[in-house]
Amino acid sequence: VPDVAVIGGGPAGLAAAEKIAAAGHRITVYDRMPSLGRKFLYAGRGGLNLTHVEPFDAFLSRYGAARESLAPALHAFGPEAVRAFTEGLGVETFVGSSGRVFPVAMKASPMLRAWLRRLGDAGVRFAPRHRWIGFDAGGLVFDTPDGRVEVAPDAIVLALGGGSWPHLGSDGAWMPILGRAGVATHPLRPANMGFEAGWSDIFAARFAGTPVKPVVAEFEGIRRRGEFVATASGIEGGLVYALSAPLRDRIAADGSATLFLDLLPDREASRLAGDLSRPQGRHSLTDHIRRTTGLTGVKAALLRELGGRDLLADPAHLAGLIKRLPLRLLAPSPLEDAISTAGGIAFEALDPAFMLRGQPGVFACGEMLDWEAPTGGYLLTACLATGRAAGDRVVAWLARAESRAKE
Ligand SMILES: Cc1cc2nc3c(=O)[nH]c(=O)nc-3n(C[C@H](O)[C@H](O)[C@H](O)COP(=O)(O)OP(=O)(O)OC[C@H]3O[C@@H](n4cnc5c(N)ncnc54)[C@H](O)[C@@H]3O)c2cc1C
Repeated sequence: VPDVAVIGGGPAGLAAAEKIAAAGHRITVYDRMPSLGRKFLYAGRGGLNLTHVEPFDAFLSRYGAARESLAPALHAFGPEAVRAFTEGLGVETFVGSSGRVFPVAMKASPMLRAWLRRLGDAGVRFAPRHRWIGFDAGGLVFDTPDGRVEVAPDAIVLALGGGSWPHLGSDGAWMPILGRAGVATHPLRPANMGFEAGWSDIFAARFAGTPVKPVVAEFEGIRRRGEFVATASGIEGGLVYALSAPLRDRIAADGSATLFLDLLPDREASRLAGDLSRPQGRHSLTDHIRRTTGLTGVKAALLRELGGRDLLADPAHLAGLIKRLPLRLLAPSPLEDAISTAGGIAFEALDPAFMLRGQPGVFACGEMLDWEAPTGGYLLTACLATGRAAGDRVVAWLARAESRAKE
């Protein structure tokens, strides 16, 4: 019976393992952590957004430049399949108002427990505390609490994740290993992350941790409505993550990027200007803005922080600022703090079967591949889909290898 090693016990690795075990192969999932699926478990703290039920073309478009490379895997295992898979583990799901799909319990632990049990029942062996440190002639080398371990499997699936939240397991340390093996990669970069905005001390001290809502944010023609959170040094949260890829790329090219905020998305600029031009009387500027527009708290503070000195020089100017307040972003948050990772193994380094070109029998899947997507369940769906696709291809490759050996 062929022996298969999966390195990485996150959603992608477990999905691959399940397919390979179903074909009757001997399979071991190695992971450097004491237990598997830690990032998946942590994702459950935010409710575990499993997938999204928007029309499939729109769904595919979320993967941007990687859309073509991922399409076959996502066609084979898309949002419907993710829901069926989850329900098959005894975990009920529901569709939220925005089309996002969650487990009813809004956490990952029951799902992970059921999945690991099912994999164990299917004969999958788990080898925690095995840190993969490189290839050896024909095999793999692990660092373990009992010292160096070498194995020589018939096929290998790499599913080591990206580089964010490294204390949960995926630390990107595989990049130089693959570099030495001649595999083309793109540098790991943060995706779905916050940004540094260089707040004044006064603003940071008063408003760090405060949600700003509702607002519309606009960057280079992309407009999104929602909310974000002011942090001690900048901004984070769903609305920011939705625009984070183009903002990150603009900062990399130009050194900064300007996001425009509409602080009162339900008010028209012309009405606002009219309201603001009412006599200020004895009221302070802050009071006048509050009385005429309703802007208070963090939104009013943002206007003062970013609006410049002569805010009320002209009511039309002030109304314009409220509707299009420029927020200059200076740097993305570091990779360690990002929800996910862009960059990784280049698709050119893989054949359509997710096998590394020039490394027969070595497959790769999940977040370690060079794709990115917004939050909304797109990350887990592509990890599960590419994991399953890699698993299927391992089975097909082993079958071909066996028939070649017989000839
Ligand atoms: C806070 C947070 C919330 C999230 N919420 C969501 C969400 O709601 N919806 C969504 O779709 N996505 C979400 N994600 C993203 C999602 O969790 C990841 O995209 C997904 O877990 C990636 O799966 P993976 O199997 O490719 O990698 P991982 O889950 O990172 O698994 C990789 C595994 O490889 C192991 N490993 C790494 N290096 C080595 C080594 N050298 N040797 C041995 N083992 C190694 C790691 O220990 C890890 O267990 C969230 C992420 C974070 C951080």
